[in-house]
Amino acid sequence: MSDDSESRGDWAARLEPLRREPGRTAILTDVDGTLAPIVERAEEAAVPAAARAALASLSERYGLVGCVSGRRAEEARRLVGLDGIAYAGNHGLELLLPGEEAVLPDPSLNGRERQAAEFVAGLDAATLRSVGLRLEDKGPIQALHWRGAEAETHAEGCAHEIAAAAGQAGLEPRWGRKVLELRPVGGGGKDAAVASLLAGPFAAAVFAGDDRTDLDAFRRLRELREKGELETAICVGVTSPEAPPELAEESDLRVEGPDGWLAILESLAA
Ligand SMILES: [Mg+2]
Repeated sequence: MSDDSESRGDWAARLEPLRREPGRTAILTDVDGTLAPIVERAEEAAVPAAARAALASLSERYGLVGCVSGRRAEEARRLVGLDGIAYAGNHGLELLLPGEEAVLPDPSLNGRERQAAEFVAGLDAATLRSVGLRLEDKGPIQALHWRGAEAETHAEGCAHEIAAAAGQAGLEPRWGRKVLELRPVGGGGKDAAVASLLAGPFAAAVFAGDDRTDLDAFRRLRELREKGELETAICVGVTSPEAPPELAEESDLRVEGPDGWLAILESLAA
């Protein structure tokens, strides 16, 4: 365990408020890097069976269990493998409620569903391939990945040029762990995802994440606490060597990797 993360004795007492009124408590989690270990290719990611079992057991006791992911909502559900919990996908642009089949798009998209796809269609596919940038079509969001590229630093440099051009074309670039995502400006975000999931009578909520986009959720959770809409809000930073520095600064407690978060989920489920 790194110096930065906390041992079980440290966090057990701080999580106690979450157990007081389970029916009015929400357990929210990012997926990649938080539940599922990061792998070279996003399509090879897997949620460990123990994490799936912990979430299933939590969903029987707590008011809401939800996954908030940059993946599409249906893809997040497939990966986690549970129908009975909520999924906010595409960084909050999609909502898939427990047991439902229909994905609800975020109203903020409003006719701009194809804007990012049209921009990346104009990029030179041969150039992207030659620098090792892989395109992922996520509907309203288009992602460029360079994890595993032969020259990752060079690929990242090209991604910065593309981000600048995308910004000029009216898109919003967002950075993740070796990924650039291009999306319509405004709306969505994990902050919006958290707000729509918590639009019920909740007293307490916990959110765990490992990356920059999760900070939006941290900030929204804190805002809800400051406004008195939540009595307890706990932001858990899942640390890794790739974590942005703000993650440690902005989290209420830190654990090391998906195993550290799993230990908390299991303890809340026990
Ligand atoms: Mg993540």
